[in-house]
Amino acid sequence: PPLLELRGVSRLYRPRRSLLARSPEVVALDGVNLRIARGESLGIVGESGAGKSTLTRVILRLERPDAGQILYRGADVARFGPGALRAFRARVQIVFQDPQAALNPRMTAEEIVTEPMLVHRDTVGLDRRGRRARVAELIETVGLRPDHLRRFPHELSGGQNQRIGIARALAAGPELLLLDEPTSALDVSAQAQVLNLLIELQDRLGLGYLFISHDLAVVRYLCDRIALIRQGRLVEEGPAAQIFDAP
Ligand code: ADP
Ligand code: ADP
Repeated sequence: PPLLELRGVSRLYRPRRSLLARSPEVVALDGVNLRIARGESLGIVGESGAGKSTLTRVILRLERPDAGQILYRGADVARFGPGALRAFRARVQIVFQDPQAALNPRMTAEEIVTEPMLVHRDTVGLDRRGRRARVAELIETVGLRPDHLRRFPHELSGGQNQRIGIARALAAGPELLLLDEPTSALDVSAQAQVLNLLIELQDRLGLGYLFISHDLAVVRYLCDRIALIRQGRLVEEGPAAQIFDAP
């Protein structure tokens, strides 16, 4: 089976009850089918409001889909018990758009990167010394220096913080990263550096990516296949070059 598969996944947001107005039901995801093989990178491109963030939330089971199934290595994520869900969340990690907002401002970079190893202690299986060594290795992997580990997010640049966000996502030993606009909050030079880091990691670690963005050029740079999402529907899917040439 594919590493990750979505079959007919839909997610509706029902209107809030209000005395004054009744807002319409929003179909955030509408029968989404997709497959990602191990080590493959799939780009999802769509405009604001197309359903991209909802997609990441239902995949991570932070929200329940109203219809359809999410399969991880052929197993239905909705049926996972606590242990299987924890293992799944160690293997499928997310990197957020705005590292400044996503990283705990009261934790040092070292604490931020260590945290998933503690949360997923049973999967990672390292003692204190092992965790320290792994943090040092990860910080080098993402192109930072050991002294960056003692800094807090406000003492690092946007690009450096996103490197910390990526090191954190790698800490539990994932096989798939959900990248939700990971470079959109960065300036142009940091954006290019982080994209190049992601390409390097993909080769080195054999990672798969689900790369979500509004920017087709960025996704095309990184992904094998691209799917376009519009109003919660995947409207087109194909090899990166082919999608780019489409009208
Ligand atoms: P994107 O990430 O592509 O910008 P989202 O997944 O955030 O899109 O949103 C898809 C649609 O679902 C939008 O119409 C949005 O307004 C709506 N939506 C998202 N989250 C909620 C929510 N918690 N409650 C109601 N509507 C929501
Ligand atoms: P409701 O949508 O009715 O408010 P919840 O979203 O709180 O219900 O979840 C109801 C049940 O579905 C819970 O037992 C929860 O563990 C389970 N659940 C949570 N996420 C998912 C998911 N992604 N797919 C299927 N079931 C889920």
